Amino acid sequence: HTITRPPPTPSPLRFSKFFQANLRILVSGGAGFIGSHLVDKLMENEKHEVIVVDNYFTGSKDNLKKWIGHPRFELIRHDVTEPLLVEVDQIYHLACPASPIFYKILLTSTSEVYGDPLEHPQKEEYWGNVNPIGVRSCYDEGKRVAETLMFDYHRQHGIEIRIARIFNTYGPRMNIDDGRVVSNFIAQALRGESLTVQAPGTQTRSFCYVSDMVDGLIRLMEGDHTGPINIGNPGEFTMMELAETVKELIDPTVQVKIVENTPDDPRQRKPNITKAKELLGWEPKITLREGLPLMEDDFRQRLGVPKKQKN
Ligand code: UDP
Repeated sequence: HTITRPPPTPSPLRFSKFFQANLRILVSGGAGFIGSHLVDKLMENEKHEVIVVDNYFTGSKDNLKKWIGHPRFELIRHDVTEPLLVEVDQIYHLACPASPIFYKILLTSTSEVYGDPLEHPQKEEYWGNVNPIGVRSCYDEGKRVAETLMFDYHRQHGIEIRIARIFNTYGPRMNIDDGRVVSNFIAQALRGESLTVQAPGTQTRSFCYVSDMVDGLIRLMEGDHTGPINIGNPGEFTMMELAETVKELIDPTVQVKIVENTPDDPRQRKPNITKAKELLGWEPKITLREGLPLMEDDFRQRLGVPKKQKN
């Protein structure tokens, strides 16, 4: 949907003054995992007003409870596939269904645009290897067409856009039961269940801690580059290695078992982050071994599994 209100032509300067200017910022999907961390970071700046729209399909009000009632914060229950009229300076579009248009908008795209990549690590110029009729193609192709639409609006209407290609991200507030690998393994280890490594277990992913991700998104929004730019941590692990790491950190007595995988699972994934480093001056700081315990604390609280006292 096109939002029909014609905004005043903004001065580009206005956007480079992230830490000085008063900005009204819309975060779609702001009640979700990455969105709520982004909101926390944006709210640290007293000159920001933050408006979140979320339909709570996967997000939760709980993630934003510390901001509800805050004078610079507003929460709207809204499905972004319906038009919405709000006057804002920036949009971080994290909600999955696409495509409200305004004057500066950042799309959180995904490493899934590279599909099961034939090039490793993946740089932004790689066009990807996606099965258009596979079980995971609705997500992959959905994000790919969202990138296309962003660029069409940029070319046709001069909309200022940013595209981030987000690689696997983990951290506190991650959905406990939606089947992602880090959340599965941590929850399983805390419940004393076997860690389910999907076959063959040699497939790789590269995991970025959520605070690094949020810093990368803000730098992309505030910089001068349209993207797409990969935002992810190049530290690459096989799923077997991840299971062993979680086991060692949380409970060395849990078992690891191999279970069936889903079709079209990418065999390897690792971002080339040269662009993010050079153009945004960004690189991740938190290693997997540092980040996992932070997520463990959050999962213990939410699952009600206290840490065992050492004798
Ligand atoms: N995976 C796994 N055990 C699980 C869940 C996922 O071994 O309980 C594997 C899955 O086969 C994939 C990887 O972990 O190779 C990452 O899966 P996830 O769904 O977390 O992310 P994505 O595939 O979107 O990168």
